[in-house]
Amino acid sequence: MDVAVVGAGIGGLAAALALAEAGFAPRVLEARDLAGETGAGIQLSPNGVRVLHALGLREGLAAIGHRPEAIQLRDARSGRLIAFRPLGRSSEERYGAPYYDVHRPALFHLLRDAVVERGIPLETGARCTGFEEHADGVRVQLATGTLDAALLLGADGIHSRVRETLLGADDARFTGNVAYRAVVPADAVPASLRRPVVTAWLGPARHLVHYPLGDGGDVNVVAVVERDDWREESWTAAATPAELADAFRDWHPALRELLAAVDTPWKWALHDRPPLPRWSSDRVTLLGDACHPMVPFLAQGACMALEDAWALARLLEDRDEDAPGAALDRYQRLRRPRTARVQREARAQGERFHERARLKRLARDLELGLGSRLAPELAMARYDWLHGYDVVARLG
Ligand code: FAD
Repeated sequence: MDVAVVGAGIGGLAAALALAEAGFAPRVLEARDLAGETGAGIQLSPNGVRVLHALGLREGLAAIGHRPEAIQLRDARSGRLIAFRPLGRSSEERYGAPYYDVHRPALFHLLRDAVVERGIPLETGARCTGFEEHADGVRVQLATGTLDAALLLGADGIHSRVRETLLGADDARFTGNVAYRAVVPADAVPASLRRPVVTAWLGPARHLVHYPLGDGGDVNVVAVVERDDWREESWTAAATPAELADAFRDWHPALRELLAAVDTPWKWALHDRPPLPRWSSDRVTLLGDACHPMVPFLAQGACMALEDAWALARLLEDRDEDAPGAALDRYQRLRRPRTARVQREARAQGERFHERARLKRLARDLELGLGSRLAPELAMARYDWLHGYDVVARLG
């Protein structure tokens, strides 16, 4: 069965691999030319890593991934440790897969190379403009012509044309947060921050996360600020170092030193959508940011796309050849509740991180701090629903 996969992001490439593995004939259609793939760092928790392992990318991922030992939360002004949660070996023992931090372009290349090596067609410059669905197939409209397929998967990101054609136009909502992203060489980072951990610094209406990438030679920095005057989403919108420094001018000196090492911060207005009422018709479905864009405060957007990819391929494998609609329906019934919960919880995490009221911040810090010191097991268990989810074991 031919499957047209629109979008060669992390979700689309992973779906193409999973579909090929399940005996389908995917073909990836990407609007861009993919020459200079950009992007900063990305965190991959065990629920997403398991899918990459199942796709045969275990060694490749280990070669590009950095395994952080823990996640720490710190107070933005004083630097006080609020709470910590072990990752590293604890995560592997608990969830059976590591937690990795990777350069996004390295992950993209790993997936793209696997797609090419496995002989899956990948066309660039192929912008999808819409589709027409028939009883026995889909005609995909491209800026350059048309293409017929038995199934269409829209993996075309937050502004998905496939979603728009399927469900009608509606804008993603601006969340009131702007993320500044940068990668800095580790030797330019203050010594006190050069540790193999993910650190999130929390302050009113802002937070900042940094972690080492790859072999530890680089550090990824994501600084999120609540502001209403910038709404563009782009990997190529540059801010000035002065703008970034100004947003964090009253923060801990080590952080200001870290930000002083940033050459070019990239600026990204964070958008999401409320959960969609449906994702699929009889021959068309969606995946990843196309159907459940979320704020990155749980670091789960790519991981959810990976889970989707695996679930879709497995559920389609059990399909009735002539009526894949039932499998697509099972897919959305399985995936919608989980991704809707992650969307909700990611927003809530942002609100917790950005708490403005002093007393509420104290209560938050006390609860998280006592939890991680007195009941570390319970503190870890809070994330079992997220990181312990095993889509591979569930669906085989
Ligand atoms: P995309 O990566 O957006 O890919 C869509 C692809 O479709 C693109 O290649 C695009 O060019 C193509 N396309 C678009 N329209 C068309 C068309 N009409 N025709 C053909 N092709 C088209 N996630 C994590 O798991 N961990 C993290 O730590 C993390 N950190 C993040 C930090 C920030 C600041 C942000 C903004 C996001 C973060 N995410 C993280 C989220 C993650 O990057 C995304 O959720 C994930 O990349 C979505 O993948 P996708 O394949 O669904 O979409």
